[in-house]
Amino acid sequence: MDRKLITQINNLKMQAFRIGFGIDFHQLVQGRDLWIGGLKLEHIKGALGHSDADVLLHAICDAMLGAVALGDIGFHFPDTDDAYKNIDSKILLQKSNELVNKAGYQVGNIDSTVCLELPRLKPHVPRMQKIIATILSVEPNAVSIKATTSEKMGFVGREEGIAAYATVLLTSIQ
Ligand SMILES: [Zn+2]
Repeated sequence: MDRKLITQINNLKMQAFRIGFGIDFHQLVQGRDLWIGGLKLEHIKGALGHSDADVLLHAICDAMLGAVALGDIGFHFPDTDDAYKNIDSKILLQKSNELVNKAGYQVGNIDSTVCLELPRLKPHVPRMQKIIATILSVEPNAVSIKATTSEKMGFVGREEGIAAYATVLLTSIQ
């Protein structure tokens, strides 16, 4: 880990709780897989991105890093680095969790919303909760995943892209 990051972690004023917010967007295009919440979903389009473009995991990573003021996933895992080309975002979530733990915190709970028209996420939510909870060492009911359409409006409504929002509460390990 670089020295600046270690200093940033050491300078973190320890509090019982820290809250973070994350947001992410990806274009939907043909010829790509659609990964959401660590699961590959059957769909005619997939998400465009340098990694596997998992919009939900990226929003959660950003919320976790934001809660400890450690920047965002673009800073830690740059899309100019070939090491992260087509990378499984579950690895990025694992690495983000390690950074959070190094800073003295663990995930308490997550609330998130994915915005997309299709496919329907609801049937897949329990599996996504389990995948994320296992990586973060929390119970599945600590990971809330909601889905909404945008009522046919805007880029989500036209199925040109997807968005995800996440809020994370971290609790101090000490
Ligand atoms: Zn992303």
